[in-house]
Amino acid sequence: MRKPGKLDLPSHESTIGKFLTQSGTFRDGDLLVNKDGLRIVPQSEEGEANQIEPLDSHQLSIDDLDAIKVIGKGSSGNVQLVRHKWTGQFIALKVIQLNIQENIRRQIAQELKISLSTQCQYVVTCYQCFYVNGLISIALEYMDGGSLADFLKTVRTVPEAYLAAICKQVLKGLMYLHHEKHIIHRDLKPSNILINHRGEVKISDFGVSAIIASSSAQRDTFTGTFNYMAPERISGQRHGYMSDIWSLGLVMLECATGNFPYPPGDSFYELLEAVVDKPPPSAPSDQHSPEFCSFISACIQKNATDRSSAQILLDHPFLSMYDDLNIDLSDYFTTAGSPLATFKQIAL
Ligand code: ADP
Repeated sequence: MRKPGKLDLPSHESTIGKFLTQSGTFRDGDLLVNKDGLRIVPQSEEGEANQIEPLDSHQLSIDDLDAIKVIGKGSSGNVQLVRHKWTGQFIALKVIQLNIQENIRRQIAQELKISLSTQCQYVVTCYQCFYVNGLISIALEYMDGGSLADFLKTVRTVPEAYLAAICKQVLKGLMYLHHEKHIIHRDLKPSNILINHRGEVKISDFGVSAIIASSSAQRDTFTGTFNYMAPERISGQRHGYMSDIWSLGLVMLECATGNFPYPPGDSFYELLEAVVDKPPPSAPSDQHSPEFCSFISACIQKNATDRSSAQILLDHPFLSMYDDLNIDLSDYFTTAGSPLATFKQIAL
């Protein structure tokens, strides 16, 4: 007879630990179980849950998102950092508050769902749009460096060499929107240009303001900024792709000088008058390279037809003049004082 010996229990490490994902979910192959129930989520070869693909409505439901914290406040509502319960993926959830009729809000949510499906590395991915409890929420790719607006608050100005590297990516995003998708962004501004620790720069929120604005019932309640609007747009005339180029020029000029190019006015009408009647802003030639000044002037022209397209601007000498420096935006974004440290805390 065998002597009863010590029970040979598997170590904790090899049992629970082996099956637990980082978010505390029990996993065995594609099967995931946590306090919220049971789910089949396809795994990659490395055993990680597959990342959510854009508009993959089967994978993404608003109940699957755990709120972590508010990461931004915009003109139309809050942006929250949330975590997908099943894959552990971080997502930015933009909640749009519109004080308008329920049926129009529902219609806006539906239109957003259709229009936001783009796939380009220079444009923030939209995973899904929800309409829940009267609120429109958009699930967006989380950009851990926040926006250029946030970044500017810490660095105040961006040196030309870094600006050229940032601008190149924004222009590639605009090229994609204008030339491939035939979409006018309509609301390009520092808070809609997002950055991450990999040094990536992506355009966000395209089409959102257009869809919201097209619903005339709430035109009065949507208080976006007019600051970056081209003369033809701010004065209510027909506007097109070139209106985005004007906005790009103002954003780049603001990043280079640390100041918004128009004097701070008290009212919309003061801004309207300055944009429409005054000469267009330009880069100070005693502080900036001739290439940068020329780039800004190719964007900021009062007559839309005098502005260069995204495609032409990509060949502008300003964008290649610092190529020899091999600029590393990842290093710049992480060391120049962006909120990336917050991301590291969340990830732990
Ligand atoms: P606005 O209404 O002015 O366009 P948003 O509501 O889009 O601004 O964004 C407000 C702020 O929320 C941004 O400045 C940024 O800090 C943060 N934010 C927005 N989208 C994201 C995202 N996808 N990832 C990380 N932060 C974001």
